[in-house]
Amino acid sequence: MSNAPSNDALSELRAALETLARASEVRVFGVADLDGVVKSVPTLFDRVGSSFRRAIVMGIPVNPAALEQIVDRPTPAYFHAYRQLNYQLDTVALVVASRLLDEGHRCLAIAASQVINHSPPQGHISSRHLGLAAGIGWLGRSGLLVTPRYGARVRLVVVLTDALLPAGRPMQFSCGRCLACVKVCPARAITTRPDDFNLDACYAKLTEFTKIPYVGQHICGVCVKACAPDNPGRAVDVHGNPVEA
Ligand code: SF4
Ligand code: SF4
Repeated sequence: MSNAPSNDALSELRAALETLARASEVRVFGVADLDGVVKSVPTLFDRVGSSFRRAIVMGIPVNPAALEQIVDRPTPAYFHAYRQLNYQLDTVALVVASRLLDEGHRCLAIAASQVINHSPPQGHISSRHLGLAAGIGWLGRSGLLVTPRYGARVRLVVVLTDALLPAGRPMQFSCGRCLACVKVCPARAITTRPDDFNLDACYAKLTEFTKIPYVGQHICGVCVKACAPDNPGRAVDVHGNPVEA
């Protein structure tokens, strides 16, 4: 007889993990089936090993007040909010990972926003692609994960696991007629076609921003601020329901 957990047990574990996460300010929670993601992102496991089957993707919204002063570059207030959020995300990822370990599962909490290569810029794993696969948002014209309720104003963290938790389904591209980020990007890196996003131009601008006093990091915030949940022209509302064109 198999010792593998039943589907009911895995559904209960998913619910328990979501409850844990939401108690730590997580407002966006989803699970991605990695077997599907690796087909579209073949490099997915290059830095983390391929024994994981699911990714838990969790998001905490950025406080709108931290974005208020941003016009065409990051501000120290945004930088500090970014750091605080990363700390909070790392903490909740460890709490969720700890629960998975207690249940006898292999898991790995990926630290939020840690770059391990600058040219091209890369992290351990692509949280936005995992968020797409988990069904918590779509990849917008800015290349960011756009969630129905918070737009791109949300930061993400990922926990990988071998627990076969029930997974979501990818969302359709839903930017619709919105061009808010295209209009404000100081690097002109964003176009109407998401596939034409100019990563090199974006990264060159972020490198310029590292020289701003009390910022010193490859951050921007301009397209994050532009991507509000009530932007006119989006194809879905804040609940993810289609909007009449
Ligand atoms: S992060 Fe800044 S430079 Fe890069 S695409 Fe967004 S707005 Fe443009
Ligand atoms: S600002 Fe508009 S066009 Fe840009 S990613 Fe967000 S929804 Fe899409």
